Amino acid sequence: MIVVIGAGIAGLSAALAAAGDKRVGAEGLTAYGNANIAGGDASDDVLLVCKDEFVESNTYHAQGGVACAIFSDDDPRLHAEDTMAAGHGLCDRTAVDVLTDEGARHVRELIAAGWHVDRGEDGSVLRGLEAAHCRSRVVHAGGDATGKVLELDVSAMVRENPRIHVLEHAFLNDLIMRDGHVSGVRLTVRGADGEAESRTIDATRVILATGGAGRLYPYTTNPAVATGDGLAAALRAGAQVTDLEFYQFHPTAMAIGEHFLVSEAVRGEGAVLLDEHGHRFMTDVDPRAELAPRDVVACANFRTMQAQGGKPVMLDVSPMAKENPDLAAFLRHRFPTIDAYTRSLGFDWSKEPIPVAPAAHYWMGGIRTDLFGRSSIPGLYAAGECARTGVQGANRLASNSLLEGLVYGYRAGLATVRDADDAVWQPQTLDNSAITGLPVAQEPMVLDMPGHDGGNADGDGAGASVWDRGRIENEMWKHVGVLRDHDGLAAAVTDLAGALAEANAAVPAAVPAAVHGSGVSGAASYADRIAMLENRNLLTVGYVEAVAALNRCESRGAHTRTDYATVNPTIAHSIAYRLKGTSC
Ligand SMILES: Cc1cc2nc3c(=O)[nH]c(=O)nc-3n(C[C@H](O)[C@H](O)[C@H](O)COP(=O)(O)OP(=O)(O)OC[C@H]3O[C@@H](n4cnc5c(N)ncnc54)[C@H](O)[C@@H]3O)c2cc1C
Repeated sequence: MIVVIGAGIAGLSAALAAAGDKRVGAEGLTAYGNANIAGGDASDDVLLVCKDEFVESNTYHAQGGVACAIFSDDDPRLHAEDTMAAGHGLCDRTAVDVLTDEGARHVRELIAAGWHVDRGEDGSVLRGLEAAHCRSRVVHAGGDATGKVLELDVSAMVRENPRIHVLEHAFLNDLIMRDGHVSGVRLTVRGADGEAESRTIDATRVILATGGAGRLYPYTTNPAVATGDGLAAALRAGAQVTDLEFYQFHPTAMAIGEHFLVSEAVRGEGAVLLDEHGHRFMTDVDPRAELAPRDVVACANFRTMQAQGGKPVMLDVSPMAKENPDLAAFLRHRFPTIDAYTRSLGFDWSKEPIPVAPAAHYWMGGIRTDLFGRSSIPGLYAAGECARTGVQGANRLASNSLLEGLVYGYRAGLATVRDADDAVWQPQTLDNSAITGLPVAQEPMVLDMPGHDGGNADGDGAGASVWDRGRIENEMWKHVGVLRDHDGLAAAVTDLAGALAEANAAVPAAVPAAVHGSGVSGAASYADRIAMLENRNLLTVGYVEAVAALNRCESRGAHTRTDYATVNPTIAHSIAYRLKGTSC
């Protein structure tokens, strides 16, 4: 049996592929980078595990759409060029070619299989333009509810497949390792009365599809499930990770309320950004103005806010009225979710600008994999936002992440059932586009993990003062946020290391050992137990992010250092990390 952790688009796609569902993937793999996958028609039963309700995920909340070169004026190679440009030299060319080429195939297949994309009156698939794309190629659904429609449609396919078994409210604590190979997962499962039960499941093939970690920060577009759990578990098990210093801050989340995302597509339709004096400042910053890449717009918003004492910048949609005289009706139809949310806060955005600010949105880095999701640990695969395949580089191109989950989730699922015991577990060579052909250190930097005891031993941390969520978020925002410098990052590394040592000691003392294959109840509720585990995970991934950001003495893509304001060509490459004292 294959265990898939996570039921966003990457986990759903992986589960369908492993279970042999032919609705996605019938067009076959591209010619790029598929030398190391066996042929055949293998499939297996799948256990699909998620810590919340089945569909709750970043995927469900995605708005703008899925970028794909499926229209007659477009080509996957053009999409690849845009992706590489946004990635600031750190994309891997082959991984990007796989993404754009296979992505176009998968999107066509999904639409044919019943994904309810938006269509025009003549039945043709509608598309939008987003920042840094040279073509209008973003397919959307439900107006601005693309992720919800995608998640519901694809999860319905999963529900129909008798080989896929879904386990909700089951939290991955850790991977179980035997002789350097994954041998199972340790879970906390919600019991009938809401209590926490510990459970272990044997599996020699595990796919992590646990999404991002926006909850590292107080201002984020991500839902509560985005706490970096799979990435942290992989780190504790000894997996290599890469590019964690690159965290994308979305330029335009609502500055009040729940930091609700105001999609890039709104600027794609013509909205502009104004400072407190009503000046359109983006035209001073970049010739592409509001459609410059996200890192450029996010930094400009952040700096403008700093200059005006922290007051948010304003997003003005009035330029859209030129082509849409009934602006209120247009906004309601094109952006129904954002329209409803802004109105619920008392704004009529057809008449007045709305306050927006940057918020943590998407993590480019993750578990280092090859082109079939294989990590550096035999038996462990990763896909989607928790993985680092090489497609996002130093900055993700808008609407490329749902596509990545779809494509690489599928590939990971395929590999789990086709890989033999002698499969090669060697992550993709770091082959960043800025230095293609030049030698790059492929070996990871080895980090001390504070308080790390091998992951599974009992600790003695009862009574230690473990940081609460607010403290973690504030530390990350203050020192590892939109703008970074040496002193802040060094302070964060020290602070987070201390907090993580305490958390690593406290968790084993509080979480009872699992009983093999069956549940054992502890005293804690499921909610309390996972809150503790999530905080440790956030400290783990936040600590490694801070170390990686401190080590990268340049500004590149989403990583902006005020003390190293420009790109440094001598470090135009990714850097891998892993934990000390672990086996892989
Ligand atoms: C508001 C918003 C708008 C966005 N808009 C777009 C867009 O328009 N286009 C685009 O391409 N991208 C967009 N993104 C980004 C995109 O949604 C995500 O990158 C993508 O959905 C990630 O998919 P995933 O399958 O990797 O992870 P997710 O969809 O986040 O799924 C993660 C899954 O893992 C489970 N999980 C996590 N931890 C555990 C654990 N410990 N145990 C068990 N299960 C666990 C969760 O319950 C969930 O099922 C947006 C993101 C947000 C937040």
